[in-house]
Amino acid sequence: MKAEIAVMTAENIDRKAIARGGEILKNGGLVAFPTETVYGLGGNALDPKASMKIYAAKGRPSDNPLIVHIADIRDLDKIVTEVPEKARVLAEKYWPGPLTMILPRADIVPKETTGGLDSVAVRFPSDPIAQELILAAGGYVAAPSANTSGRPSPTTAGHVAEDLGEAIDMIIDGGQVNIGLESTIVDFTENIPVVLRPGYISLEMLRETLGDV
Ligand code: AMP
Ligand code: MG
Repeated sequence: MKAEIAVMTAENIDRKAIARGGEILKNGGLVAFPTETVYGLGGNALDPKASMKIYAAKGRPSDNPLIVHIADIRDLDKIVTEVPEKARVLAEKYWPGPLTMILPRADIVPKETTGGLDSVAVRFPSDPIAQELILAAGGYVAAPSANTSGRPSPTTAGHVAEDLGEAIDMIIDGGQVNIGLESTIVDFTENIPVVLRPGYISLEMLRETLGDV
């Protein structure tokens, strides 16, 4: 297998391995890592070549946009042109957590990452390993689920190794992930927020916070 494997826990993060993963990502490589939902297949979201590598590794069509993962709320403003008030309220309530928001894309985010769209999907995961890796990579990591298209989303590093071990550079094994359900996706590019994919956060929970959804 090509991928190197680093084993750690959220309580006992291997800083050296995280730094190495961050370097791999900064240099355009791919690193799989745990999030609170499923294992993600990470690449530098601001590097068009890294996004193309993600599509190739997964066998995913390149017009199917990737979610950009951040680990510091202050990093949001750099990759979007506007954050509507309702999106701020939702971020305040559910970030870090299994919520993805679609916002207008800033030019710094390549169209390769967004599947050609002028909007960008952003999530701030709560898993401490994911957060450390994203920060070590420079703040912006595109990460779909770490499986080849058509396979179930992986909840263990073993599943990732078996499926993608030859195609990627590193796998961070943080044990079994908690949810196994994907993030809820909410689109804020229209006047009324629209749920594009139901997930851990339900429509009812969103309506409680935002009213009309
Ligand atoms: P995942 O497969 O978990 O990586 O989630 C990616 C999904 O998020 C895509 O298949 C789209 O359904 C959705 N998505 C990501 N970016 C956008 C966007 N800019 N506009 C609309 N939907 C998006
Ligand atoms: Mg998936």
